[in-house]
Amino acid sequence: RAKARGKGCYEIFDASMQGDLKKLLQLENDLRHGIDRAEFVLYYQPIVCLKTNTVTGFEALVRWQHPERGFISPAQFIPVAEETGLIVPLGWWILYAACEQIARWQAQFPDDEPLKISVNLSGRQFLQADLVEQIERIIKQTGLATQGLKLEITESVVMQNAETAVKMLERLKTLGIQLSVDDFGTGYSSLSYLRRFPVDTLKIDRSFIHEIDTNSEQLEIVRTIVLMAHSLGMDAIAEGVENARQLKILRDLDCDYVQGYLFSKPVNSEMAETFLMRKLNAY
Ligand code: C2E
Ligand code: MG
Ligand code: MG
Ligand code: MG
Repeated sequence: RAKARGKGCYEIFDASMQGDLKKLLQLENDLRHGIDRAEFVLYYQPIVCLKTNTVTGFEALVRWQHPERGFISPAQFIPVAEETGLIVPLGWWILYAACEQIARWQAQFPDDEPLKISVNLSGRQFLQADLVEQIERIIKQTGLATQGLKLEITESVVMQNAETAVKMLERLKTLGIQLSVDDFGTGYSSLSYLRRFPVDTLKIDRSFIHEIDTNSEQLEIVRTIVLMAHSLGMDAIAEGVENARQLKILRDLDCDYVQGYLFSKPVNSEMAETFLMRKLNAY
């Protein structure tokens, strides 16, 4: 594209930038092939309810097994997929695979409270005109109990598109699925919008949890978010819980759910099943 604008455009790139651009184009190309060749796999991270001390669900996190370059982190390829629009087909695949898996587990491990799967939606995916229809189709095809699906949308995406987001979230809610605001605390929420979002959960960003046991300012922020969630009729979930001190504080603050390396890293489906088999009561 730079070429079309004339030779002079090259001068704004130094050698390393050209290298970066080349890498980016390669990544885009590989991503396209990766989707065709089904190189993606879902990992699952347990979500623990602090009231019952049991695993009540999982967050689905996508992984890319690149044939030559090995494992590539979603933090690296999701932004490129988003930029190029490839997130749309990839996103439908992720949603379908997650729903199919959780429907199987719901049948295999029946409980009064159906097991939940949380699926991340990128900004572009969330704003797809046919989002609701696609989700309806996927729920029907996989036979998932609708309350078993939870969608995570980041605070910055919902707040940057607040008016559209209110309408979209309301439509999603009528399907009976659960909604969560991800990375909460990092995205400049407007309280008046937050009140209008029909969401079930605020997911406190891990940057606040990280220092909750050493930094009283972070602790007060988390306390405030939990209180705010409850006064809005929502649950609070903490991500990135890594040690027992953090867990103890979150219990004291009356946080509802926790997720993090203290319990488990994201694991493959076989490993995830072992959590369901032992219904862990250890925490
Ligand atoms: P996220 O949705 O906030 O996911 C949580 C990230 O924190 C995951 O990184 C998870 O592995 C990591 N994590 C969990 N517990 C801990 C902990 O105790 N300590 C630390 N340091 N980290 C922890 P991951 O899997 O690399 O994903 C990164 C981001 O990529 C996700 O952030 C999400 O924004 C995006 N992503 C991942 N999978 C998908 C997907 O299927 N669709 C979309 N649209 N985005 C995805
Ligand atoms: Mg998430
Ligand atoms: Mg998160
Ligand atoms: Mg986060």
